[in-house]
Amino acid sequence: MIIDCHGHYTTAPAELQKFRDLQIAGLENHLDVALTEQKPISDDQIRQSLENAQLKLQRARGTDLTIFSPRASAMAHHIGNETTSRRWTQACNDLIHRVCGLYPDNFVGVCQLPQSPAAAPAMSAFELERCVKELGFIGCNLNPDPSGGYWTSPPLTDRHWYPLYEKMVELDVPAMVHVSSSCNPNFHATGAHYINADTTAFMQFLTSDLFKDFPTLRFIIPHGGGAVPYHWGRYRGLAQDLKRPPLEELLLKNVFFDTCVYHLPGIELLLKVIPVENILFGSEMVGAVRGVDPQTGQYFDDTKRYLEALNLSDAERYKIFEGNARAVYPRLAAKLDKGRAPAAAAPER
Ligand SMILES: [Zn+2]
Repeated sequence: MIIDCHGHYTTAPAELQKFRDLQIAGLENHLDVALTEQKPISDDQIRQSLENAQLKLQRARGTDLTIFSPRASAMAHHIGNETTSRRWTQACNDLIHRVCGLYPDNFVGVCQLPQSPAAAPAMSAFELERCVKELGFIGCNLNPDPSGGYWTSPPLTDRHWYPLYEKMVELDVPAMVHVSSSCNPNFHATGAHYINADTTAFMQFLTSDLFKDFPTLRFIIPHGGGAVPYHWGRYRGLAQDLKRPPLEELLLKNVFFDTCVYHLPGIELLLKVIPVENILFGSEMVGAVRGVDPQTGQYFDDTKRYLEALNLSDAERYKIFEGNARAVYPRLAAKLDKGRAPAAAAPER
């Protein structure tokens, strides 16, 4: 089975954005537009939005299941206040739930959180619980910078975030560290802000004892881990200089990387540097980079091709495409194994 751990609903029906536009217009008049103002979206509209996009690409590329979340760049936690964010988040998560209900073999849900620069992460814990317990989601996307490029929140390792981590541990779900749009003109969203955040989160984890406090807390750092694999020697050396334990011991039981790196040499480096147990197949389709690479004639984000070009053993292939996702997302493993004989249970983490 081939599990893509990183997909967003970037093609949602226009009614979703219309609700967002209403919200934003309301803010100008100090109004919090209620969720009931959203125009209905039919099942057929949802099907149409996926058939020629994510589903078509799944079939064409030979992937089976996408771990699916709301469009990341549209989370825009900096807009409005906590109520604005909560309503927008509910609208987005409820739509992902409908997608997963219509296509249970193709998609499994991961939620957006109702973050806001002034909001306590405890509020995100409520939405996470709703999504996991009521909607069957298996994880969340956590934005380390709800301010949208100005980094006004404490580091991810600060106790500020602990109420959310306590809920993640209780529910046994991981978070993908995922920023949203950038309102800082210095940082292009997907070209700079995303990659900066991936790198920043890793360095925060390196300098803290977060995983001593939460030994089972798990994060996926997307986009191949930002600059981390390329600079692995720097991070090993910094850990040594800072009298931290080796990285394997310090954080590799808790931090994982996806394969959203859009060229073969990048994937080769990722596989060479990062232990195979820490790599999850991901493509982020349909996402930030949608074009065809003129050098290869293939889509940049068809990351399965790069992995297939490598001489992976069967065991390595299994881990990257399925096994590691099962281990990092135990609720996914439970869903997949539902109805199967006990012998087919997920491998131990
Ligand atoms: Zn993403």
